[in-house]
Amino acid sequence: MGIHLFLSLQLASYILKLVTHNLSTERRQRVKIAIIGSGYVGLVTGTCLADFGLQVTCVDQDEQKINILKSGGIPIYEPNLEDLIQKNVSAGRLTFTNDLEKAVKESEVIFIAVGTPSNNDGSANLAQIEKVAQQITCYLNDYKVIVNKSTVPIGTAAKIKEIINKYQTLSLRATEGSAAIPSSVIPDPSSLIPAKAGIHPSVIARSEVSLPQRKQGKQSLSTAYPFDIVSNPEFLREGSAVYDFTHPDKIVIGTESPKALKIMQEIYRSLYLIDTPFVFTTLETAELIKYACNAFLATKITFINEIANLCDKVGADVHQIAKAMGLDGRISPKFLHPGPGFGGSCFPKDTEALCSIATSYGYEFKTLQAVISANKRQRELMVEKIKHLLGSLKDKTIGVLGLAFKQNTDDIRKSPAIDIINLLLKEGAKIKCFDPLAMDNTKKILPDLTYCQDEYETAQGSDALVIATEWNQFRNLDLTKIKKLLKSPILLDLRNLYEPAQVKELGFIYEGVGRK
Ligand code: NAD
Repeated sequence: MGIHLFLSLQLASYILKLVTHNLSTERRQRVKIAIIGSGYVGLVTGTCLADFGLQVTCVDQDEQKINILKSGGIPIYEPNLEDLIQKNVSAGRLTFTNDLEKAVKESEVIFIAVGTPSNNDGSANLAQIEKVAQQITCYLNDYKVIVNKSTVPIGTAAKIKEIINKYQTLSLRATEGSAAIPSSVIPDPSSLIPAKAGIHPSVIARSEVSLPQRKQGKQSLSTAYPFDIVSNPEFLREGSAVYDFTHPDKIVIGTESPKALKIMQEIYRSLYLIDTPFVFTTLETAELIKYACNAFLATKITFINEIANLCDKVGADVHQIAKAMGLDGRISPKFLHPGPGFGGSCFPKDTEALCSIATSYGYEFKTLQAVISANKRQRELMVEKIKHLLGSLKDKTIGVLGLAFKQNTDDIRKSPAIDIINLLLKEGAKIKCFDPLAMDNTKKILPDLTYCQDEYETAQGSDALVIATEWNQFRNLDLTKIKKLLKSPILLDLRNLYEPAQVKELGFIYEGVGRK
């Protein structure tokens, strides 16, 4: 009886959701979306939103990227993304363009998904965000919701709003009255963007002609167009981005506007149907949530790496420790895999940026500072392991398997493998390497390495073989063949893909991270 009641309630709730969903379908189809920045985040966001049934235009300033997309190709590797793009392009819901003006004018919701790389001092460089804010202002022609998906310092959404408001006011004054605006009324860029934002003078030049000018035409110039700002940070992981976007742990929406909130709820209605938790909050809290998540995960990785380093000293097995820790519900087993330290396009820059944000507010974020320095040392400790096994590395040939910062991506930004290769090169080593997807990207920054066809060519004649990225295909190597090809049977497994005892039985000198 109880079960029947429970099932009936579940069914009723599902039907209610379907009805709500169908009622809002017409409205959803009317929401037109522009995504500015079609990189890892923008392209996945645009494609998945199109797959939710929305009309999406992905914009990028990179003509080559857009040409690849228009011709049916894909500029990055991301599992399942190419098929999903094709499906939605064929359905007429997804288009690609360099024409930001047209995309902005024709859309009600504009997502910003441009890069926010690090400045030299670790703070986030907001030049791309600022430029987009300026561009959007030029082409406002109606009410717009401007959604920031990029990872940005606290206060950036408010500053985007301030920039657009000031530009609109100045632009209106320019159109209504004097042809030129005295430089005295043009705001100093540093007053519009956060102290550590990496100001680009091009964003607001103190000249009479560089102000954004509304295009002359039918649109009214007598009023500033209304807009709302939303902070909607993205939590997808490269390598599983499509799955993550469509099955997120949470959707965070920060905004002060009930109207924008309603539109965002409609955009994400497909996820509401599968019971995704939503966190509705302020702009600033949404911005900080993203940094807090990344900083915490980076801390967890670094913690288990330090436990692994201690295991190396005391002869304990880090896998068993991680397993036992993960069984504690308060800890969870995720992000407890020891290795060469975190890398990629997010954790390194976001931990640095959060420290920088804290400093700019007069707070010393001690835990995170320690995480950053321990992570740097982790790379060095991996090279120490190789030196310990091989002695001097001068003129030794090291075979490196894996260049991407993790498996299932071609992204090499802040890749541990690349950092380790650079340290090995400094020691005078020669590098042979192989990666299933990331060799073209690596050739652009390290053209002089020896790039191999596969794992076995990499091992041939090398003094040691280092597994630097956890690609699945490296988990089942023919180790007997590898041993014959290597000059000396040394296997350094920086991702702990193999069982030490089994590899040693084959006659290898084997070392992992935190287990021997
Ligand atoms: P990316 O470098 O891959 O893509 C950014 C794109 O924006 C580029 O294609 C660039 O050409 C384009 N662009 C820059 N300025 C432009 C302009 N004015 N007009 C049109 N296009 C412009 O960056 P990404 O990895 O997609 O990251 C984007 C943001 O999302 C960053 O803030 C990042 O921290 C955040 N983020 C990234 C990930 C990830 O896994 N990559 C995950 C979550 C959040």
